[in-house]
Amino acid sequence: MRIVLTGPPGAGKGTQAALLAERLAIPHISTGDLFRAHKDQGTELGRQVESIMREGGLVPDEITIAMAAERMQQPDALDGFLLDGFPRNIAQSEALDAMLRDWGHKLDAVLDLEVPEDEVVRRIAGRRTCRKDNKHIFAVPNNPPRREGVCDLCGGELYQREDDREETVRKRLAVYHEETEPIIDYYRAQGLVVTISALGTVPQVTQRAMAALPERDA
Ligand code: AMP
Repeated sequence: MRIVLTGPPGAGKGTQAALLAERLAIPHISTGDLFRAHKDQGTELGRQVESIMREGGLVPDEITIAMAAERMQQPDALDGFLLDGFPRNIAQSEALDAMLRDWGHKLDAVLDLEVPEDEVVRRIAGRRTCRKDNKHIFAVPNNPPRREGVCDLCGGELYQREDDREETVRKRLAVYHEETEPIIDYYRAQGLVVTISALGTVPQVTQRAMAALPERDA
C-alpha cells in the first residue's frame, strides 16, 4: 500500500500515521521527522532548514523532494509506505507522481484528516512531544501522558516543539490553506481522496481510517 496522509497541522497526522503504518506493516515516512532528525544531528541540511522550520514556512521543494525520494527507495519501503507531511504542495505532488511512475508504482489512497480550525489551535497548544522519540506524542486534554512532562512509552522528557507556539501555528495554518489544501483537489481528480473526521479519541480515528482505506492487495 502506498498512502499519503494529509490534513492541517494538529489533525493528528503524526499519531495516526504511526498507528496506521504499524497496522498496515509499512514504514511511516514523515518529512517533518526527517528534517528534525537532521536538525538534532546537526547536519548541513539540518542547519539549512532550521530557521524555515522555526518560522513555520516550507522547506524548498528541491531539498524536500530529494530527501523524500531517498527515503522511499530504502529497502523497507519498496513494498509500500505511508507518507506523512509530504507532499505539501502541488509541485511536490507532481514530483511524487513522476517518481512513482518511474518506479512502476502508484498511490492507493490519499487519506485526508478533517478537523475544525478552532480545534486545531486548541490541540496544537496542548501538544507535547518526546525528546527521545518524536513519534511519541501526547496532547492535553484528549491524550495526556500519565505523568506530566514524562513520556508514557519510554520515560523521555516531553517538550513543546518550537513550531507549536501560537504565532507559528497561525503561520503554519495559513501555509496549509495556501499551499497544501490544493493537493486535495489534485488527488480528488485522480479519484484517490478518502476524507474522514479526525474528531474523537485516537483509537476511534484509527478505526475510522482503517475502515475507509481501500482493501489491501492480496
Ligand atoms: P511537520 O512535522 O510535518 O509538521 O513538519 C514540520 C516542518 O517541517 C514544517 O512546518 C516545514 O517547515 C517542514 N516540512 C515538513 N515536511 C515538509 C514538506 N513536505 N515540504 C516542505 N517543508 C516541510
